[in-house]
Amino acid sequence: MYVCINCGAERKELYRRYCPSVLKILKCEKCDLIADKYIEYDPVIVFVDLILIEKPAYRHLLYNSKFKSYWKLCVILWIFESFRAWISCDTRIDLDKNAHDNCNFYDLLIHTALAFTAFIYAVIVTTELKWFIGGKKPYKYNVKDLIRALTIGGCGKLLGCLGIVWRHIASGPYYLLVQGYTVLCLFTAYSVVCKSGKGGSLTGLIAGFLVYGYICISVSNVHIRMPEITLI
Ligand SMILES: [Zn+2]
Repeated sequence: MYVCINCGAERKELYRRYCPSVLKILKCEKCDLIADKYIEYDPVIVFVDLILIEKPAYRHLLYNSKFKSYWKLCVILWIFESFRAWISCDTRIDLDKNAHDNCNFYDLLIHTALAFTAFIYAVIVTTELKWFIGGKKPYKYNVKDLIRALTIGGCGKLLGCLGIVWRHIASGPYYLLVQGYTVLCLFTAYSVVCKSGKGGSLTGLIAGFLVYGYICISVSNVHIRMPEITLI
């Protein structure tokens, strides 16, 4: 089952093929707009709209596309975040000779994996709890979609690659900007899967952010300090 990228209504089909060279894109019966315009777009345009945090692009990627390599994105995010923490840790130790030497890359890999897992579990539990108490659970929701959405949203963190390339990794304001962008991506991805507004998305994600921050701080007081708390 597909979805309309404009209103999120379910659709049995997005287009009809009359012959190998003739294809007609169908309209959504609910909103009367083209159900998924991205079908005939170049993937680069979809990618640009994802960067611009467009909800229709998120719906297309999560429900209507053939993209299945979410686990690869997870691994890239995991390694990148560990690497960023490692570089950041090394830089801090260079600046502060009294800092504890706790920059083992393999330790940081375990810490990051633990924090990511806790973040995802916290969001899932909070979301289920929210619907258990308040109701209004979307018919199409399933946990797998939510995990995929969190993975896509978390990819905002990859903007931090630019910081590594340009040696701004230890810059607080720059990394806060990346964090802010990642939070916006996560909000959009969460609201697409859970069909929630701003308040509902904040309720669902806030527990994940708190748990992630708590684990990062408690696991290593060198790995993460307040200006560089990572929010997946
Ligand atoms: Zn529609």
